[in-house]
Amino acid sequence: MSVQQMCPKCGGNMVDGELSYFAERSSVQSNMPFSGIPVPEFSTTQGVNETIFWEEKTGKKTGIIFKRDETRRMGLRGFRCTLCNYVELFTKGT
Ligand SMILES: [Zn+2]
Repeated sequence: MSVQQMCPKCGGNMVDGELSYFAERSSVQSNMPFSGIPVPEFSTTQGVNETIFWEEKTGKKTGIIFKRDETRRMGLRGFRCTLCNYVELFTKGT
């Protein structure tokens, strides 16, 4: 897809991208339930890159015993203006 987006605010060029966030987890857990068994140690903090998605209710119910609202998830993509940094978000339809 090479659709050239134009910024609705200032008319500048917009570049597309995807939403993700970088979660830093300290993975060292001192209270392992299996004490005595050598546990492979992750001493470094590992960054986990996770994607944010859009979630909405479909209006239907799922589940036989426990009724829950059925949701659907869609990825998000967006455009960012290179001049004013305005960001416009779209869902990636499935
Ligand atoms: Zn702009």
